[in-house]
Amino acid sequence: MKAWLNFSPNIVNKTVISDLIKNYDVSFNILKADITPKGGKMLIEISGSEAEEGIKFLEKEGINLNPIKRVVKKDDDKCIDCGACVSLCPVTAISIEDDWSVEVDDKLCIGCGVCTYSCPMKAINIAE
Ligand code: SF4
Ligand code: SF4
Repeated sequence: MKAWLNFSPNIVNKTVISDLIKNYDVSFNILKADITPKGGKMLIEISGSEAEEGIKFLEKEGINLNPIKRVVKKDDDKCIDCGACVSLCPVTAISIEDDWSVEVDDKLCIGCGVCTYSCPMKAINIAE
């Protein structure tokens, strides 16, 4: 599961993430992080046999968790299938389909945001 974690200022100095990894059987991947002493957010991918318990632990510790199905949202009304974003994606999460439409594979996407800067139509954005 991928999710945004929102950290309030009183949480940023706590060892919540290391406690999670130490105490639960979870695989934890930080895809994106923007955290300062004033708080911030982190995009994570979490899996493993105790992922659910780990998520409850994060919430109990005061981290607001927002699960997301899509890391990026592509507005199909704006997208002209120009393909400019395709070759820039570092993990080949964007592809051109047989019908020449451009699709994003959310399982592969790591939320780097490169596609959002490259789109001439501003049709693709990080979902938050
Ligand atoms: S956000 Fe990054 S990884 Fe995800 S589709 Fe765009 S370029 Fe690829
Ligand atoms: S760069 Fe923008 S308009 Fe072009 S295929 Fe990607 S999302 Fe669509």
